[in-house]
Amino acid sequence: MRTLVAAADLLVGAACPGCGHPALAVCARCARIMRPDPRAVTTVEAAHHLPIMAAGHHSGVLRRVVVDWKERGRFPLTEILAHHLAAAVAAAAADHDEIALIPVPTSWVARWRRGDDLVLSLARATAARLDAVGHRVTVHPVLRRTRRTVDQVGLGAGDRARNLHGAFALDRQRLPAHTPLVMVDDIVTTGSTLAEAARALAVRGWGVHGAATVAATPWLRTTG
Ligand SMILES: [Zn+2]
Repeated sequence: MRTLVAAADLLVGAACPGCGHPALAVCARCARIMRPDPRAVTTVEAAHHLPIMAAGHHSGVLRRVVVDWKERGRFPLTEILAHHLAAAVAAAAADHDEIALIPVPTSWVARWRRGDDLVLSLARATAARLDAVGHRVTVHPVLRRTRRTVDQVGLGAGDRARNLHGAFALDRQRLPAHTPLVMVDDIVTTGSTLAEAARALAVRGWGVHGAATVAATPWLRTTG
């Protein structure tokens, strides 16, 4: 009985985060609209020479689904967005069977609010999907945030880079040798977070193959 009540709670008021129509998760129409289409992202910080692939633009239906996932951490959305991240990772390391994913650690504020690290959950779901189609993918949450950073929203590229300088450190160095390291995050805005995370790996001698995200902010240029 209790299970039935819990199921009813889930059903009543359940809405597609993309369009608001009644649905358990993303409706078929929105799923079609937000289908992954990985593109190379040209970031403001092109000087860092970090190739970034994003599965879509952070706008419209995809943006609404990502925002809902970040705010509520709904499990079905993790699975759907893992499909997007898997497409971006596959595009970022197309020639490699083995791939090591390095999730960018969620900010302390976000983790405190939600109680877990959503990007790590997303990375694990992404690895499972890629494993299922013949890749060998491992997840290595080796980066940690060394200090608080102010909210990046509203900061220019230079201020973002200064805000993030030294923000990440490598916890352990148990990373696989001879396997491309692909950093993963939910959204790329200017690329400064990914660039700083790559720098933290580089200072310890680990070269990063590239980065992959679910979405890129719409003002970033994408190619391919
Ligand atoms: Zn919908």
